[in-house]
Amino acid sequence: MPERLGVTPPPEGDGQALPHHQVAGLGAGPANLSLAALAADELPEGIALFEKREGPAWHPGLLGAGTQLQTSWIKDLVSLADPRNRLSFLNYLVTTGRIYAFLNAQYDSIPRLEYARYLAWASGELGCVRYGTAVEQVDFQGGRFVLHGTAGPVATADHVVFGLGTRPEVPACFEDRDIEGVVLAEHLEGHLTTVAAKPYEQVIVVGGGQTGAECVLNLLQRGYRDIRWIGRRPWFAPMDDSPSANDFYRPTYLRFFQGLPEGVRERYAAEQTLTSDGVSMATLQQLYQANYEASLREGRSPVMMLPGRSVVEAANRHGTIALWCERDWGGRERHAARFVVLATGRRATPLPLGAGLLELMETDTSHEPVIDSDYSIRWKHSETNRMYVQNRSRVGHGLADPNLSLLAVRSAVILNSLLDRQVFAIRDEQMSTVWA
Ligand SMILES: Cc1cc2nc3c(=O)[nH]c(=O)nc-3n(C[C@H](O)[C@H](O)[C@H](O)COP(=O)(O)OP(=O)(O)OC[C@H]3O[C@@H](n4cnc5c(N)ncnc54)[C@H](O)[C@@H]3O)c2cc1C
Repeated sequence: MPERLGVTPPPEGDGQALPHHQVAGLGAGPANLSLAALAADELPEGIALFEKREGPAWHPGLLGAGTQLQTSWIKDLVSLADPRNRLSFLNYLVTTGRIYAFLNAQYDSIPRLEYARYLAWASGELGCVRYGTAVEQVDFQGGRFVLHGTAGPVATADHVVFGLGTRPEVPACFEDRDIEGVVLAEHLEGHLTTVAAKPYEQVIVVGGGQTGAECVLNLLQRGYRDIRWIGRRPWFAPMDDSPSANDFYRPTYLRFFQGLPEGVRERYAAEQTLTSDGVSMATLQQLYQANYEASLREGRSPVMMLPGRSVVEAANRHGTIALWCERDWGGRERHAARFVVLATGRRATPLPLGAGLLELMETDTSHEPVIDSDYSIRWKHSETNRMYVQNRSRVGHGLADPNLSLLAVRSAVILNSLLDRQVFAIRDEQMSTVWA
C-alpha cells in the first residue's frame, strides 16, 4: 500500500480522540456508495461515509408510482467495473428473494423505488454509513482533513471524497422567497396528501424536463383537470436514448472528452444535454395518451402545454398565484393558478470547504476547484492527502458525470488513483465510432 494511505494515529481534540479514517466520503448517495462498494475489498478499513439524512433514502419525494430509472439496471453500483462484486443489483435481487418476481414483471426500466431499495440494501451490507451527520465544513490541520459537523468536529481523514449530489434550483423570482402555494416537485407528493383534491382548481407545473412531466402525470392521475405545463425549451424535448447518443456514455468517449479544449467541452456539454436531461419517450407518450383519452371522455384536454416560456415574475395575490412569463419569440404573458409546482432543475450542492482549504486549491475562472481527469482536486498537498469530487463537473468530464451511467467506472478511476495502481481495468475496446 502506498505511503499516502498509511494509517496515522488519531489526534486528541479537546481531550477526546476523534475517529480517524484513511478515506472519508461526504454524502451516501449512489456515487459514494459505489465507491465504498468497490473499495470494500481493496482498503482494509473500507471507506467511512457521512450522510446528513437520518437513514437510507434516494430522492424520496420523487419515487411516485410509475417512475422509472432512465439507466439500465446493469449499470448498478459496481458491475461495469467489478461484475463479481457482492453488491451488484443482481445479487440484491437474488438475496432478497425477488429475482423471479422481478424477471416476470418484464421491465424495460426498473422502478425508481426498486433502485432506492437496492441502495438501502447496499448501504446496510456495507455498514459504513454514519447517518444523521451533516458535514458542514472540511479543514486541513496537522496533515489531515478535519470534518466538522453541526456540533463540532466529527472525524479526521487522510483523504476525502465529496459525493454531495445536487439540490433543487429555482428561477430567480422564487429564490429566497416563500410564496404560499408554491411547492417544489420533491414535496408535491406530500403536499397532495395534505390538501383535499379539487379537480377543477388550476395548477401550474413549471419545468419541462422529466420531473416536470412526472408532476403533470401525477396531477392528471389524481384527477386534476386544469393543468398548465410551462417549459423553457421551444418544445417538450424527449431524451435522446439512441445508440449513437449512448456512445457518449462510454469510457472511451469520456477519455476523448477530457482531452478536449475547454471551449469545445463547454459546447459539447451544452449540445449533448438532451441525451441526459430530456423527457423519456415513455413518459411523454403516457402523458399525451392520458391527455387525449381525457379529451375523448370529457370533451377537453386537461393539460395545456406551454413551451418556450420562462417564468420571470411571481406573486401571490389573495390566494391566487400569478406568474409572468417571457416568451421565447417575444412578449410576455400571465398565467394564474391556486398552486404552482417547481420542477426547474438541480444544481451542485456547494462544497463545504473551510476558507483556509480553499486558498490552497487551484480554481478556475468561476472560482470552482480544478478537477483532474482522475476526479481529484488540484491543491497544494495532493501528493500526500487527496480530495476527490463526484458528480460536479459536466464540462470537465462530460454528461456522464451527473448521471448513474458510468458510476462504477468513475469509482474505479478514483480508486485506481487513490491506490496508485490499476486495481480495476476499464475495458471498452469494441468501438465503431472513431472520435479522434
Ligand atoms: C428524481 C431523480 C431521478 C434520477 N434518475 C436518474 C436515472 O434514472 N439515471 C441517471 O443516470 N441519473 C438519474 N438522476 C441523476 C443522478 O444520477 C442522481 O441525482 C444521483 O442520485 C446522483 O448521485 P450522487 O450520489 O452524486 O448524489 P445524491 O444522490 O444527491 O446523494 C448525495 C448525498 O449527499 C448528502 N449530503 C449532501 N450534503 C451533505 C453534507 N453536507 N453532509 C453529509 N451529507 C450530505 C445528501 O443527503 C445525499 O444523500 C436522477 C436524479 C433525480 C433528481
